Amino acid sequence: MIAENIKKVRENIEETCKKVGRDSKEVTLICVSKTKPESDIIEAYNVGERNFGENKVQEMCEKHDDLNDDIRWHMIGHLQRNKVKYLTDSAYLIHSVDSKRLLEQIEKEYEKAGKEAHVLLEINVALEDSKFGYTCESVIEDLPFIETLKHVKVVGLMTVAPYTDNPEDNRKYFRKLKELSVDIESKKYNNISMDELSMGMTGDYMIAIEEGATLVRVGTGIFGNRNYNV
Ligand SMILES: *Cc1c(COP(=O)(O)O)cnc(C)c1O
Repeated sequence: MIAENIKKVRENIEETCKKVGRDSKEVTLICVSKTKPESDIIEAYNVGERNFGENKVQEMCEKHDDLNDDIRWHMIGHLQRNKVKYLTDSAYLIHSVDSKRLLEQIEKEYEKAGKEAHVLLEINVALEDSKFGYTCESVIEDLPFIETLKHVKVVGLMTVAPYTDNPEDNRKYFRKLKELSVDIESKKYNNISMDELSMGMTGDYMIAIEEGATLVRVGTGIFGNRNYNV
């Protein structure tokens, strides 16, 4: 079941890239394994997947410790400052950085660990009250501060688009995130590159790829529905 789902998602990625003239090597599939058992992750690993996404720090650390070292763990959930210290060993990329205070904490903990954090800035493009993230305007204010950080490297932007039955509805948000990344890139900040765009989930990842996504986060479409009551 999981292997079949992955095959389908991989085909969709290939076809979408072909449709818009992109090289599918530019698009990394992140299998969002939050709430799912390690046996599910192993199934995906055994058909070649190496990028997994989690939204809880403790769950990610446990899975990181238990499973193979060549897995890249992506922190995609809202991050509390007091949890940052647990990420220095386990996180390959932190997608959900949404404030100066969080950036300061990441700088502090990664300095202590003698490492460099790779992060994305989360943007609430659709301005939903329920979502975290900078606005397209507020993020600009923190960029000069980010230039001063020695242990944090910003490598792109991330957004969580609204839930919708019609993925076309989200195209405008993906396009806006891409525009913002082009705008930031053109300003040539030190320490900030716009190589990565993390956007698109099960319902809308193909639209996101059409609009320039380099990282798509697919959970349900690979592992099935999540049960939060167990
Ligand atoms: C859960 C989650 C996903 C995966 O969502 P699906 O709709 O199951 O593909 C992607 N991104 C974030 C930030 C998530 O929390």
